[in-house]
Amino acid sequence: MLDLDVRTLFIVSISVTIVLGFLLLFTWYQNRQIRALGWWSASHFVMCAGAGLLGARGHVPDVLSMEMANVLILLSCGIAWGGARLFDERPAPISGVLAGPILWMIASQLPLLSDSINARIMFSSAIISVYVIGTGCEIWRGRVQEPLLSRWPLSVTFFVHGAVYALRIWLVFAFPVAQGSTYYSVVWFSIIGLESLLFLIIASFMILAMAKERSELVHKTNAMLDPLTNIPNRRAFLDAAMRRMRQRSRNPEPVTALLFDLDYFKSINDRFGHHIGDEVLRIFTSKAASEFRSTDLLGRIGGEEFGALLFGAGEGTAVSTAERIRRALMIATSEIEGHHVDATVSVGVAVLGSDMNEDVIELLSRADSALYLAKEHGRNRVEVAGRTHAPAPPLEEAKAAVAAIGALRVVNPGLAPKLQAAANEDALAWLDARSARTAAK
Ligand code: GH3
Ligand code: MG
Ligand code: MG
Repeated sequence: MLDLDVRTLFIVSISVTIVLGFLLLFTWYQNRQIRALGWWSASHFVMCAGAGLLGARGHVPDVLSMEMANVLILLSCGIAWGGARLFDERPAPISGVLAGPILWMIASQLPLLSDSINARIMFSSAIISVYVIGTGCEIWRGRVQEPLLSRWPLSVTFFVHGAVYALRIWLVFAFPVAQGSTYYSVVWFSIIGLESLLFLIIASFMILAMAKERSELVHKTNAMLDPLTNIPNRRAFLDAAMRRMRQRSRNPEPVTALLFDLDYFKSINDRFGHHIGDEVLRIFTSKAASEFRSTDLLGRIGGEEFGALLFGAGEGTAVSTAERIRRALMIATSEIEGHHVDATVSVGVAVLGSDMNEDVIELLSRADSALYLAKEHGRNRVEVAGRTHAPAPPLEEAKAAVAAIGALRVVNPGLAPKLQAAANEDALAWLDARSARTAAK
């Protein structure tokens, strides 16, 4: 058997746990939003107190070295489990954290436990094992919503440690501790003690690695996402577009670029305020996003300009998608906070056949030329690069808008009787607003 001095191991373990506890505390201080770090740090300190009392057996009253020590060790495991839940924004119920120590306190009063050190070791080992494996499961569960690489080794570390504590139950059967003996005289205690020390070191460093990985991911995501609309910003959109176009060269398929530019957006800000302008941008994003498939790319490439790449889609699909978004925007912005905002969007479409090759910038610049044409031809319309369309007569546009607004209001039965009148008013309001805007431009 390994000749390890359990007393020395205790002292080393406690010192190392204190250092790791402070390390976690410091990391929590730097990353306050990761509350779990604070909990894990607390769990280390509570563990130190428990292990310290356990090690002081014979020097302090038994109630401290046995009852209190076990309660603190189990509490430390409960806190670590709660921390793992908090790490993924799941609630850490205090009942769950305290369940183990309370169960222990109640059970240790029973003669079965109070009379037998072996029964006590088995019972506390079982609770520790459940908490430790539970902690591993909590960390593992979070991988779906946040696939951090360090979750894997960290949960495995917890599973292994939990299994070792489950094994401790068997060890008590196989090599029972003599009644009245101290832990120091039990040979397998040194092995378990060493494993626990290694576990604490590995788990603490993996926790630090996981927290660092999360911070980096958050920074990376923030740098790539537009904060107002929560979709990729210009850089992220172009990066993804270039990556996808490179993949396309291996597997040719048609691809269509759409450029959206909200019409007279400056005037919307001027007339209704910047916050309504922001709301229009959010509405546009949600309407556009709901029309695209998960394989398509959508990004905010400028203030009120958005780009999209549709893979495997030809001109027909792209134009009908753009039309649906154009209409959905008019409907959704017909009234915002009591204002008839009536935002519209112009769209430029450029198609690249599966047998054609062009880089993203060229494709987008063709879509931009089509967008320019859409603006030239009166706005609130879709133009395809390489095609010329006669501008739609304003009356037809107005009718379409009114039909759309009417359709929206039918959803509200309270408004149904007034629908026709409202629709007529909207037609006039829409035309007035439109001419006012054109004049203002
Ligand atoms: P056009 O129909 O020719 O596109 O006219 P426009 O007014 O939409 O175009 P212009 O480029 O003159 O104005 C764009 C405006 O978009 C100016 C800017 O204040 C506004 N804008 C840019 N980013 C934001 C934003 O994040 N929020 C809000 N509310 N407005 C924004
Ligand atoms: Mg613009
Ligand atoms: Mg604009």
